[in-house]
Amino acid sequence: AAKQRKLGSLVYSPELNASSAQTLSLLGELRRAVREGELRLFVQPKLAVGSGRIVGGEALVRWQHPQRGMVPPMQFIPFAEDTGFIHTLTLWVVEEAARIVAAWRTQGFEGRLSINLSTHDIAKPDLLDQLDARSAAAGVPPSALCLEITESAIMSDPQRAVQTLQALQARGYKLSIDDFGTGYSSYATLKTLPVHELKIDMSFVRAMEREPKDAMIVRSIVELGHNLGLSVVAEGVENATVLERLHAMGCDEAQGWHIGKPMPAAELDAWLQQRQT
Ligand code: C2E
Ligand code: CA
Ligand code: CA
Ligand code: CA
Repeated sequence: AAKQRKLGSLVYSPELNASSAQTLSLLGELRRAVREGELRLFVQPKLAVGSGRIVGGEALVRWQHPQRGMVPPMQFIPFAEDTGFIHTLTLWVVEEAARIVAAWRTQGFEGRLSINLSTHDIAKPDLLDQLDARSAAAGVPPSALCLEITESAIMSDPQRAVQTLQALQARGYKLSIDDFGTGYSSYATLKTLPVHELKIDMSFVRAMEREPKDAMIVRSIVELGHNLGLSVVAEGVENATVLERLHAMGCDEAQGWHIGKPMPAAELDAWLQQRQT
């Protein structure tokens, strides 16, 4: 069966001819979305488990579609990746993210914002220059940005990934391996990656309350990360019990609905102020 991806009522399959009417119309809509400002960058807060402080967040894109309402990223990111439009989208995200961090800094909040990169982004030679241009324009140091790359994106071309990540790290960007535990990376690759963070896949974290094996996997990843000198983040933390267990395991940071949902940057500002008082 053809791999199919749904966008609202439209169904897109990568097997379709690149010039098919359906592909062209979706691409046209996405171009319009960027041009007309229909994309929104939400931020989900990230908690330092030990201190209870909010140390930054993750930027998550949404599409405020004029007819279809708020379209979640999984309904257009895969399409954007297959068509190459992801480059335009990523640059929009980086620009917006740099603006958000710059605003935080003028308010005295030294948080770090994480951005999701796709396989295509890390394969593009001018990624580094484009990131530098946008962070410099916003007056934001690279160290205030963290680039998340999934374990499977790294493993699709490990040699290239190592090169790109080394260049990004040398420039000062923080790097994170997203969805860790699901992508078959080898210890040999892991030890060569210049990352500062492992992000445990949500599937383990969400199951750890009822499945001892999942809890054991989470514990093992925390230990592995610490033995390699990395910071470990758990995402998908949906209740206080899980957060307490992560604290007991020594997990460094946590993200999830129990801490805060992804929200518009302006809402996060208000949320942060309320939290402090
Ligand atoms: P991800 O990077 O693994 O992001 C985490 C997803 O988990 C987000 O979904 C977030 O809203 C959701 N989430 C957060 N806390 C919880 C929780 O406690 N429970 C549950 N069940 N879910 C939680 P979202 O925003 O729908 O994003 C889905 C995926 O789309 C992301 O997965 C990422 O792979 C991709 N994505 C989002 N924004 C971007 C972007 O700007 N660029 C790229 N390349 N991909 C993006
Ligand atoms: Ca992510
Ligand atoms: Ca993830
Ligand atoms: Ca994911």
